[in-house]
Formats: sequence, structure tokens, C-alpha cells
Amino acid sequence: MIHSLPITGKTQIYGIIGYPVTHTFSPLIQNAAFQAIQADAVYLAFEVHPDKLPAAIEGIRSLQVCGINVTVPHKINVVPHLDEVTATAQRIGAVNTIKNQDGRLIGTNTDGQGFIRSLSELPFIPQNKTIVILGAGGSARSILVALAEAKAEQISLVNRTISKSQQLVDEFSPIFPETQLRTEQLENLHNISIDLLVNTTSVGMDGDKSPADLNEFKMVQHVADIIYTPQQTPLLKQAKQLNIPCINGLGMLLYQGCEAFEFWTQQKAPIALMKTTLMQLLK
Ligand code: NAP
Repeated sequence: MIHSLPITGKTQIYGIIGYPVTHTFSPLIQNAAFQAIQADAVYLAFEVHPDKLPAAIEGIRSLQVCGINVTVPHKINVVPHLDEVTATAQRIGAVNTIKNQDGRLIGTNTDGQGFIRSLSELPFIPQNKTIVILGAGGSARSILVALAEAKAEQISLVNRTISKSQQLVDEFSPIFPETQLRTEQLENLHNISIDLLVNTTSVGMDGDKSPADLNEFKMVQHVADIIYTPQQTPLLKQAKQLNIPCINGLGMLLYQGCEAFEFWTQQKAPIALMKTTLMQLLK
């Protein structure tokens, strides 16, 4: 898509930093959103080598870039360079969105909230629910925080490397005393009633393997797989066969972008347009 509004002396600059970054969908989605609200703004992708991260952050300040998304591998390392981070980003320990507010760089993390918003498509409300998260990596961390902030009753973490899931439980149990957090083996969960099973591992990206066999569980009410390529992982195919309501990771991807847009502009994101743009990119 071409930026159809004229670039002027006042055009505001937004963008994304990552390494690599050329694969990102964000410029097309965010530029479509800026056009929809008639903003004099443009969103670009900047490839920033890890060694150049401090200089890139200084560049945001000196060039008065208005807003930046942060992607792999900079989400954690960017934090000490900012003036302020939201409570959620602080808990997650990673930032994916920066706003330049009169020279002060404020970081937040919209991944977890993007996931929570995507659950409305099921629909599913986490409060008082029993949830199982497969995986204990970066996205599990932001989803765990968001589900606990949304007052889930119990969250069990299942991970190949148990020390990593245990570390999350140890870190977050004191912060979220109202949510029971524990690390579990998958087999021990077969006989409980699970309101939501979330896959945050990369198992299923090959279109072949599944991180869990849903036939082995007594009761799984909803399934969310945050993988979005392929759109139908083996786990989601099985959920469909068993008539379990399920969603893939496209909603999380879309809504984390909507949340970033709203954090920058204080305006409601044009969700339908952003979704259509994303779907066209994935065709
Ligand atoms: P990450 O930090 O590298 O974590 C990967 C997780 O997958 C770890 O828990 C890892 O277990 C587990 N894992 C990897 N290979 C495995 C295997 N063969 N068997 C069992 N477990 C395995 O990655 P991430 O950033 O959290 O991303 C994970 C997935 O989420 C990716 O597929 C990514 O595309 C997707 N994602 C989606 C969105 C979205 O917006 N929808 C956003 C971010 C990420 P160990 O700890 O044992 O290594």
C-alpha cells in the first residue's frame, strides 16, 4: 500500500525496530490505520543491529520520532534506555511499544493485552477460570501476566524445560497472590476441567506436530494457539474436530497492534480495517 497522504514538514514519524525486521506486517497495518484517521503520520521499519540499540534510542529522542514498536531481539534490552515503563511492561520485563511524550520515552507492552482482547472472539473472560499455558518463553510470560491481571483463578504452566516454568511461578506467585500459579506435567492435567488451553510454544509451526493431544483430556472448554502461520495448526484442527471453540494467533497479532496505535494516538483503532489489511497480507 502506498502512503497516500502527502508527506509534509509536519509529518509525524512512527516505526518499528528489530533485527531482522523486513518480514514485519506492522508498516502496512499501522499506515492503513493512520490513513483511516487522516493522521499526518508515517510508519517505517528500521533494522537496528543489537550493537546499535542505544544509538537508535538516542535517534528516537533527537529526531523526535513519535512512537516505536520494538520486536525481537530488542524487547528486553530496550527497557533501561527508557524514561518510564508501565506497570505491565515492568512485570513482563519487556517493552514492545514506546511513546515519545514531549521528549520522555514511555514503554509499554501490548502483547498480553492483545491476547486478552483476542479472547473476545471465542468469547472468553479469564476471571475465575482455570487455565493451562503450554510454554514458558517470552510470549508465555506476557500472556501469564495479562491472565493474572485479568484475575484468572488458576494457571498451570507446562514446559519442556521445567526450570523455566518454575522460574515464572516463583517470580509471579508473590505478585499475583489471588491467582494460583503452578508448574505441571501435561499428564497430571488430563483429569481436571480446563476452561482455556493456550499454546505459546512454537510446536505446530511446521503444520505437523501438536503440543498436546486433546483426546487425552477429560474436559477442555476453549483452545487458543498463538501461532498464526500456519493459521490452522494441528492443535487447532483437532479442537475443531472435537467442536471445542478455538482461535489462532492472528487476533493477538492484530490487537497488540491496535493497543499500540491507541497508546500513541489516544484514538480508537480502526480494527476492521487493520484486520482486513492483515488478512490480505496473509493471502
Ligand atoms: P520463545 O521465547 O523462544 O519460547 C518458545 C517456547 O516454546 C519455550 O517454552 C520452548 O520450551 C517451547 N518449545 C520450542 N520448541 C519446542 C519443542 N520442540 N517441544 C516443546 N516445547 C518447545 O518464543 P516466543 O517468543 O514465546 O514465541 C513462541 C511462539 O509464539 C512462536 O510460534 C511465535 O510465532 C508465537 N508468537 C505469536 C505472537 C502473536 O502475536 N500471535 C506473538 C509472539 C509469538 P523450552 O523452554 O523448553 O525451550
